[in-house]
Amino acid sequence: MLSERKEIRRKGLRFSLRRIIIVSTRYGLSSRKFLIGLQRMVTLLKQHNVVGTFPVTALIVKRHPELLSILEGMEVAVHGYKHTDVSKMSREYQETMLREALDIFSSLGLKPTGHRAPYLRLNETTLDVVSQMGLLYDSSVPSMWRDEGESNESKYLKNAFLSYGLYKSGNQLPVIRGRLVILPVAIPDDEILIDRLRINEKQLTTTVIGMGKSALSSGGHLVLQLHPERFHLFHEALETVLNFAQEHDAWIAPLKDVALWWRDRQDTEPRWPDNAPFAISISGDIDAVTLTDFGLRIFGR
Ligand SMILES: [Zn+2]
Repeated sequence: MLSERKEIRRKGLRFSLRRIIIVSTRYGLSSRKFLIGLQRMVTLLKQHNVVGTFPVTALIVKRHPELLSILEGMEVAVHGYKHTDVSKMSREYQETMLREALDIFSSLGLKPTGHRAPYLRLNETTLDVVSQMGLLYDSSVPSMWRDEGESNESKYLKNAFLSYGLYKSGNQLPVIRGRLVILPVAIPDDEILIDRLRINEKQLTTTVIGMGKSALSSGGHLVLQLHPERFHLFHEALETVLNFAQEHDAWIAPLKDVALWWRDRQDTEPRWPDNAPFAISISGDIDAVTLTDFGLRIFGR
């Protein structure tokens, strides 16, 4: 009999093959298909006067600088040099990769202040390196959001493990680590919900609103992780959660603003600006733009 862990791994392998097929349908040979989704996501955020945070892999922005005109007015963060798991790499490797990534951003006139590790895989060295390079925040530590009465929780736990490895659970507030602000990122994300659990649009909206309600009751900071190539599948959930946040006077801010606020906040001040009951940030990770990018990613490039 297979142990639970082996069973999870076996399912993981099967899912990896299915995922390659699913994901490959989301990109085209040119960047057009991806850019339409990205443009629609940015337009929706702008309609709600929201600045989103878009972590982009350095090689991708170098290959597709056309992304930047669409991202005008949004925050751009670093999502690794290439889309690989750095958590098992040496300190030297992680330093070199992040330095090269920042050089690429700076050659394009960008000065990012935040970092998100590919696959949300990181270790203490990653956080040291991000801080050493002068970045203000990291938003890679996955935090499982629990919604009481959520019947899918055990499925989320297994899928979170498959997608992102071990995660810490329940921390919904920023953490100061030396000069670095850590902004935990909420899971389940769109990959777990749409690709792994294959839930429909209505269930997706219900789950995301559940996360919003949990943020409201705890006064936490909800960092939603989305991927623009799935915009056509999550736009209703995103619009609904933005409306929910606005109806409840939440503070909706890019990760950079939340990190600055948390770093400079005095104990006497309220938890969030203007006494907002909770904070929410929308992030849209850009891992690949074309089918070729996606293919190269499989080979670690
Ligand atoms: Zn990514």
